[in-house]
Amino acid sequence: MTSIPTEAIQPQASLRDAPLEKVALETYVPPAKPSLIGLSRAELAEQLGAIGVAPGQRKMRVQQLWHWMYVRGAQTFDEMSNVSKGMRAELEQHFTVDRPEVVAEQISNDGTRKWLLRLPSGHASERPHEVECVYIPETDRGTLCVSSQVGCTLNCTFCHTGTQRLVRNLTAGEIVGQVMVARDRLNDWADRETPSGNRLVTNVVMMGMGEPLYNFDAVRDALLIVSDGEGIGLSRRRITLSTSGVVPNIARTGDEIGVMLAISLHAVRDELRNELVPLNKKYPIAELLDACRAYPGSSNSRRITFEYVMLKGVNDSLDDAKLLVKLLKGIPAKINLIPFNPWPGTRYECSDWDQIEKFSEYVFNAGYSSPVRTPRGRDILAACGQLKSESEKLSARERQALRAMAMTD
Ligand code: SAH
Ligand code: SF4
Repeated sequence: MTSIPTEAIQPQASLRDAPLEKVALETYVPPAKPSLIGLSRAELAEQLGAIGVAPGQRKMRVQQLWHWMYVRGAQTFDEMSNVSKGMRAELEQHFTVDRPEVVAEQISNDGTRKWLLRLPSGHASERPHEVECVYIPETDRGTLCVSSQVGCTLNCTFCHTGTQRLVRNLTAGEIVGQVMVARDRLNDWADRETPSGNRLVTNVVMMGMGEPLYNFDAVRDALLIVSDGEGIGLSRRRITLSTSGVVPNIARTGDEIGVMLAISLHAVRDELRNELVPLNKKYPIAELLDACRAYPGSSNSRRITFEYVMLKGVNDSLDDAKLLVKLLKGIPAKINLIPFNPWPGTRYECSDWDQIEKFSEYVFNAGYSSPVRTPRGRDILAACGQLKSESEKLSARERQALRAMAMTD
């Protein structure tokens, strides 16, 4: 694991001068007793080998553990009743099945729930790393919006997460752990069927904090577990990964994960997209759309979603809508218009409702499904782009003060 000093992160002088990408701090230090959540079957077998489980036993033990963790949602080894007592004690001595710690739960008046989750940080002097995870119930589905990073390495100007300085990649376990926390809190595991027998978490979207394609390996490993048919078992069609356009990892997403793709497009001209999504300077619109045309597995029944945030007077004209339709020609696409969700200190405003309707109508008449995403959980700052945890980098002076306090304690 690389350890980059906190000083390596440049404070954001202003959004315009912000570097294209911030450096991710890799200061995750696994707890003394690591959690087994997030390991692949092969990694689990390896861990079992390390505590002396005989090679002939490992496959069976892995199967048992997988079932207890991902079908039953066991939170302790003690619950795993078909595992021998001795084995349970051995597991307990070395591992946990812990998920991220829930430090706050907020429930919006529209039923949306937001959990603030605490993750281990690398240094005692750092504030704990925190991410948010949001559950959005609808009549026919329940969608969980999952984070991939603490903060984000990118600086989209309309996004609250982008203003956060501290960045750490989540581990696969911390990503799967968010789905498990939601199932825990909603009582949504196999042996705790809801009265109707229906599952509450039916869909997962990687649309929380962070850019999932800048944490590719962990996101891939986590989504393979979430979609594993012998475990949590969500179909890959019900999992959507949203990216701001990390072109080199788009084909890999199709090949190695096979989930639905969403692209945060937000502008149809490079000049404007360079400003809204600065990563566009590295991977401009034409390159991004080429990658979409080549996306493995896309078809008319597996369309790519293009997300388009509606910013008043910035990107919401009918000319923009026309160019959008032109650009997407030949790509199996649907367009998701997102009313801009304001956050404290933003310089943007949401487009007027009649303008959103006009834009949507134009796109619809051109043959694209163009639903307007209803903002959910705005009252608890849980809507798209409003997520931001308090995990800011401490200044050198703050760290020094903390150290001094620790010494006098
Ligand atoms: N980093 C990824 C996924 C997380 S953001 C990405 O950018 O795609 C999920 C979606 O919310 C993206 O389309 C993002 O552009 C959008 N979004 C960000 N800030 C927003 C805001 N304030 N209002 C509405 N949508 C926003
Ligand atoms: Fe990061 Fe996505 Fe927000 Fe851009 S929109 S700053 S990529 S989380």
